Amino acid sequence: MSSDSSTSPTAVKTDEITFNDLGLLPQVVKALNSIGYEKPSPIQAATIPHVLGGHDVVGMAQTGTGKTAAFALPVLSKIDVKKKHTQALVLCPTRELAIQVAEAFQSYAANLKGFQVLPIYGGQDMRTQLRSLQRGAQVVVATPGRLLDHINRRSINLNSLDVLVLDEADEMLRMGFIDDVESILENTPDDRQIALFSATMPGPIRRVAEKYLNEPKEVRIETAVTTNENIEQQYWLVSGASKLEALTRMLEVEEFDGMIIFVRTKTSTVDLADRLNARGFSASPLNGDMNQALRQRTVEHLKAGKLDILVATDVAARGLDVNRISHVVNFDIPYDEEAYVHRIGRTGRAGRTGKAILFVTNRERRLLRAIEKTTRQSIKAISLPSREELIDKRASQFKAAVAKALPQGNNKLFQETVNQLCEEEQVSVEELASALVYLVQKDRPLVPPKERAPRERKEFSEKSGSDRHSRDRNSRDRNPRKDKKGKKPGSNVPMQVYKIAVGHNHEVKPGEIVGAIANEAGVEGRNIGQIRIREDHSFVELPKGMPDDIFSSLKKTRVRQQPLKIQKADNVDMDRNPRPKRSNKKD
Ligand code: AMP
Repeated sequence: MSSDSSTSPTAVKTDEITFNDLGLLPQVVKALNSIGYEKPSPIQAATIPHVLGGHDVVGMAQTGTGKTAAFALPVLSKIDVKKKHTQALVLCPTRELAIQVAEAFQSYAANLKGFQVLPIYGGQDMRTQLRSLQRGAQVVVATPGRLLDHINRRSINLNSLDVLVLDEADEMLRMGFIDDVESILENTPDDRQIALFSATMPGPIRRVAEKYLNEPKEVRIETAVTTNENIEQQYWLVSGASKLEALTRMLEVEEFDGMIIFVRTKTSTVDLADRLNARGFSASPLNGDMNQALRQRTVEHLKAGKLDILVATDVAARGLDVNRISHVVNFDIPYDEEAYVHRIGRTGRAGRTGKAILFVTNRERRLLRAIEKTTRQSIKAISLPSREELIDKRASQFKAAVAKALPQGNNKLFQETVNQLCEEEQVSVEELASALVYLVQKDRPLVPPKERAPRERKEFSEKSGSDRHSRDRNSRDRNPRKDKKGKKPGSNVPMQVYKIAVGHNHEVKPGEIVGAIANEAGVEGRNIGQIRIREDHSFVELPKGMPDDIFSSLKKTRVRQQPLKIQKADNVDMDRNPRPKRSNKKD
């Protein structure tokens, strides 16, 4: 159950609350309807009234719970679009999150004429930022380092700030921004309202909350739920393939009877069901926009086996009781542990066994752990079915279909046609039959096309894996293929060489460097260039123009217990082998 704060002990019943009940601006609610949100998530239902009421808020919420809308919707409902000055400021730990939050504001404000949101982060051209700031934006979404730069240059004026949001406060702490955050807090008016969101509440964050927040309402979603042990639970960490590709591959090899696939929005139910139908699966959407009669009919079709897959939102699938459902796929992760348990409870009914598969992106892993903790059951990581499994499955399904059709093949005209074709084309019956296999399976080839080159870390870890057995240390370096212009394939990004303070002496492997940089800097593995490992340091190529905030976080990032202390290194010849040990000369 969602419960409210320690300050107001009444449990909030969020189940029946709609967006219309929360006191949001009608234009904002209208935008939500076109985006396809059916109802507020628990954190939204609990937080929005407090923010609208002008209270400071501490929200314990992680990515995936809908926390962005929990602050963005009330902020949008409070600001005055006729005035151009900065009325709300959101601080985020990373550039990616800042952009994402700014985009969320933009979409929720689709019907607010005159609204401007401005993302500000390191690495972006300063002049462009200064111009945009001069033009004015009611909401600024910023990373702490760059915002502090603007405060010091007096290029941003926060004197009339009404609301300040600290998003992912624990991440900002982890990335070393806490002092910057405090300096920013000191530069805002005393009477501004503050909403602080954090997945965890480490001491320093609690202290910030105690020092700067005024009798905050605490919002946390508490759940007390258990899961049915008949349900086998698995998760797939989204990587290398899109969720849709992964889903279709799983659907091909999984033996399932009935299935519910959960997505977040009404629009996604329709969209995904369409895509699955186009790929030969029998799927229908189930969402709150469909009238009761149509919903009922759809469920009846599933019960009767006229339909195998429902693509549903939580609202529409509530209470659904169909024994045939053998699988639940959480295509979009649920908001919280309770929603997860409700969802997977649609399978394993009437004493049967069921399977629940969850798609989790890297950023959502925390929610996965929270689910495991609450349900006290571990969820097993799975990888995508391999191409070989796909080939086996397709072949056996094809054979079964042909065996079934053999009686219908006992037809004189068909056999004559076969004989004529063999004669006219001068081919054997086997050759002709093979051509027919091709024709029949054209849309689902028995031998599917080779996958695209594996991307990101996998590629590197495989590489480093085999390199590990090599006697030549330098072969442990990383050498992505380059095109003629010296750029990496698929990338037009100009690169800069950086030096990092970890090397052979620390027994570092290229995969570890790639992993750390990809995780900390959010640089995609494929954008990380060559790596050269030396005795006590290494060189790595990264895209030019690294934002300041990422740069400072990479300085502190540790690999093999060594802080990377990353610094630019010019004039390094990455193609040259290092000198043998006896030489003192460095690169
Ligand atoms: P967040 O936790 O803010 O990162 O949000 C996670 C995802 O949930 C985003 O893709 C949002 O668009 C989506 N989302 C947030 N609130 C709702 C809602 N009430 N209904 C459906 N989707 C939502």
